[in-house]
Amino acid sequence: MSVDDNTPVLRGCIKLPLPEDELLEVTAKAKDYAIMHGAAMRSKTNFSPDSLNFAPFVLVPSSFPRKEFEKAIALQPIINRLMHNVAHDEEFITTTLAETIKVDEFTANLFNIYRKALAHGFTQPISLGMLRSDLMLESRCRDMSMCSSSSSGGKDNDAKEKQEAKAKKTTKVGVARGISTSLGCWKQVEINTIASGFGHLGPASKTIQRFVLQELGHSDKLQHMPKNEALSGLCDGMVKAWDIYAKPQSVILFIIEDVSYNICDQRFHEFYIRETYPHIKVLRRTLTDVHREGKLGQHKELLLNNTEVAVIYFRAGYEPGHYPSQGEWDARYLMETSLAIKCPSIHYHLAGTKKVQQALAQPAVLERFINDPEEIKAVGKIFTGLYSLDDNEAGNANYEMALQTPQNFVLKPQREGGGNNVYGLDIPDALKRMSRVERSAWILMDLIHPPLSQGYMVRPGGKMPPEIVDMVSELGIFGVVIGDADHIVHNYQAGHMLRTKLSTANEGGVAAGLGALDSPYLIDSDDEDGYF
Ligand code: ADP
Ligand code: MG
Repeated sequence: MSVDDNTPVLRGCIKLPLPEDELLEVTAKAKDYAIMHGAAMRSKTNFSPDSLNFAPFVLVPSSFPRKEFEKAIALQPIINRLMHNVAHDEEFITTTLAETIKVDEFTANLFNIYRKALAHGFTQPISLGMLRSDLMLESRCRDMSMCSSSSSGGKDNDAKEKQEAKAKKTTKVGVARGISTSLGCWKQVEINTIASGFGHLGPASKTIQRFVLQELGHSDKLQHMPKNEALSGLCDGMVKAWDIYAKPQSVILFIIEDVSYNICDQRFHEFYIRETYPHIKVLRRTLTDVHREGKLGQHKELLLNNTEVAVIYFRAGYEPGHYPSQGEWDARYLMETSLAIKCPSIHYHLAGTKKVQQALAQPAVLERFINDPEEIKAVGKIFTGLYSLDDNEAGNANYEMALQTPQNFVLKPQREGGGNNVYGLDIPDALKRMSRVERSAWILMDLIHPPLSQGYMVRPGGKMPPEIVDMVSELGIFGVVIGDADHIVHNYQAGHMLRTKLSTANEGGVAAGLGALDSPYLIDSDDEDGYF
């Protein structure tokens, strides 16, 4: 990760360290609280379908600048509309992915389904988008118009304060690093259009941390933890799609992996739907099951052993391993050509590829999808540098740039789910192993430099009491959008999630075992009562 001595540290929500006896007691309590409130996962090392471990979590919420949080929330419906329009732009999707599908077999297989569905006409014109826009604060943000206002610009040359802060290994953000004096501005890491997880674990993280703050006698801090209704927001989206389908006996189908480690983040969706709308049934099936049981009815309804499916929610199908044979690809195609409303439909899936994200960040491209100049400006600012590696003049120049200054970049393939990217100094070797054409399956992205926060990360089997560690966070904002090529019928922001990882880790997937559940504690740049 791009952390050095100059990386700013966000002030914490409470004074740390905690006295050891208090820390031991509250941590033990919080672990049980987490399991008993479903902030949990199946163990990968000791798997049993009969038991759960608590999911790794950060003991007290990590700070996040309020203005940036509010901007991200306000922007989500615009991002929803953007992605909806992109998904329905056949020419844009086709041209953007043209080079990539020549060398990336997985994307080519998805694209093939798209092409065949296009050729036959989409049976179901409505799509259900349940998106998650992931973002990080860029502490080296130079674009002050997007940043929170500075609280300490005059302290740039205060060497003593700098030294003291370094001695404490922490400093107030905005204290001078020769860069900007703000809490940072956020930049988009990626946009997810398939299997956007943490609709349950996002709000559950807040539940644990609220309990911990109360136990520690800090109830006054709770007002700075924003409400988070991600679970109901997302599930209500599925139910709105079910309503549009308008067949009382039809069900909602969750497409799942063979083994679901992140089980709480799926079952809570199911249980919320069953409890709130008991007349709607939820089925869980793998792609392999659908291949075996699925068929189309007279009007292209998707039938699973004669049960009609209204809505398909994909929590699998985003990586090659989910398609062990042609049968799973056939199942995906069967579903795509059916009347069921898909989350995502194939065009939404393709719109969420990294290649499309890279194309959207190019100058003037947004104008194709957004009319309002103010909205274009606001969305344009969230992109950090994204570069094509296609085999053409621009792509080859970007390739040279990556070889010369690899420390500034992340190299990304067209994959989801974490663990696929190449970072910094590893990039030249990775690139040199590829042929010119193979490079077009990848994109290059500016590395984002988030500020640090400090706190206790609690993991199953981890050290007790936990130690204070340096961490960085990534915020995800959920959005729901429903509509066809011409009309959007529902479009709203649907809560958030915060994941936090050790500052030394490149990636922070919680399910992958690197990150920890967290939730934002909103701070203002002129708020002087925080701890450092
Ligand atoms: P995936 O689809 O596998 O989740 P991402 O693009 O989200 O791929 O990257 C995975 C992780 O890598 C992110 O969650 C983030 O922690 C880190 N990451 C990705 N892009 C950047 C970037 N530009 N700067 C810093 N870290 C990044
Ligand atoms: Mg990601």
